[in-house]
Amino acid sequence: MERYFLVLIVCLGLAFQSSKSTEIDSVYIYNTYSKIARQIIQKAMADSLSWEKLAYVCDTYGPRLTGSKSLNDAIFWAEKEMKKDGFENVHLEEVMVPNWKRGEEYCEMVYPRNKVFKISSLGHSVGTNGKLIEAPVLVVKDFDELAKRSKEVKGKIVVYNAPWVSYGHNVQYRFHGASEAAKYGAVASLLRSVSPIGFDMLHTGVMGYQDSIPKIPTASITLEDAELLQRLQNRGITPKLKLKMTCETMPDTISYNLMGEIRGSEKPREIVALGGHSDSWDYGEGAQDDASGFISTWEALNIIRSLGLKPRRTMRNVIWVNEESGTRGGIAYAEKHKNEPHFLVFEFDSGVFEPLGIGFTGDEKYLTILKGITPLVKEIAPDFSIKKGGGGVDIGPMMRLGISGMSLSTKGNDEYFWYHHSPADTPDKVNPEDLNKCIAIIAIATYIYADLPDFISTK
Ligand SMILES: [Zn+2]
Repeated sequence: MERYFLVLIVCLGLAFQSSKSTEIDSVYIYNTYSKIARQIIQKAMADSLSWEKLAYVCDTYGPRLTGSKSLNDAIFWAEKEMKKDGFENVHLEEVMVPNWKRGEEYCEMVYPRNKVFKISSLGHSVGTNGKLIEAPVLVVKDFDELAKRSKEVKGKIVVYNAPWVSYGHNVQYRFHGASEAAKYGAVASLLRSVSPIGFDMLHTGVMGYQDSIPKIPTASITLEDAELLQRLQNRGITPKLKLKMTCETMPDTISYNLMGEIRGSEKPREIVALGGHSDSWDYGEGAQDDASGFISTWEALNIIRSLGLKPRRTMRNVIWVNEESGTRGGIAYAEKHKNEPHFLVFEFDSGVFEPLGIGFTGDEKYLTILKGITPLVKEIAPDFSIKKGGGGVDIGPMMRLGISGMSLSTKGNDEYFWYHHSPADTPDKVNPEDLNKCIAIIAIATYIYADLPDFISTK
């Protein structure tokens, strides 16, 4: 009986200990940061000034294509504003970026009837060498169909009419479609815009060539025109298109990463870097992609600063350049700052909608600690959770060096891709209240991480 009791007490003790040790982390987070989290939420939700700032940059500078004057002007404006805000160590770092110019573009179906198509040359595509290409069309749903019909490809314009599955799936036709078609002798390739919906909208984006394969011009067309070509082909008709594109790649040019800081109170050398990207495509104004990302992280730090909060580590807002067509900003940042101890890199580049959760890639023990954030943000994000797996294109180079990565996910899902890389990516698509919620969550999550005491952060 006594032995039984002893075993029971030991077992209960162990159970209590193990639940206590996991609870200590979340209880610690709750006790230490609940008041601060409430202050951050109140401040973030108080007005729509962050949305005004987003709309200002979009309306004033317009599209911010890599290599354009409007992009650099927007970056110079942000540098001045960051200094006015009172950030420390605000500065630009030069980055050589690709300089692709769209030029003119023209596409017309000339058989079986005449119809002028809207087209969008894809970033980094070659043009048609000043010529008007006239060629028959082969429509395919995917690379498998292209391979099966490879003997029919020579001398044709291949049109990829891939039904929407997901951005990650469909974007392969945009990026690799030209070289895959050129392998079999195509003279150009077109693709149905990468988006779940049509509405006669073009969605542009970057493409890439394989070195050993001839470079052919490539562009996106609307879902409606891709489906028209598909229906004609299904009836045994081979449509013919005329195509002219004058896009070209100029020598690399200068642009900038921008950063500003709140210096750490105890460990100023250790950095928590958070940001989004300044560049956009040349359609629309890049309001969601990614003014929403760089404004959110910037405003998150502004709230922390204006509340007089002093994180243990330095928090650095980085506005990376050239995410859309080369990641030169992210690569240059990693190269220049790889010897500074980074505790975390955070990126927001998935569109402002109701916040859904934080994704984290790094040591499991931090994942457990971060779970303590969930109750702190319940009032603005009832479905919020912390999940394994966070990242982003700009922070990729730092994460590949072994730095922990974090990102915010939202409930946008497919809706983000209604506007993505299209003329409809304008400030009206960003809901001011959702923007404030995203800012509050970014501020809370990154501040807590930057402020974690040593006993938790020692490796
Ligand atoms: Zn983006």
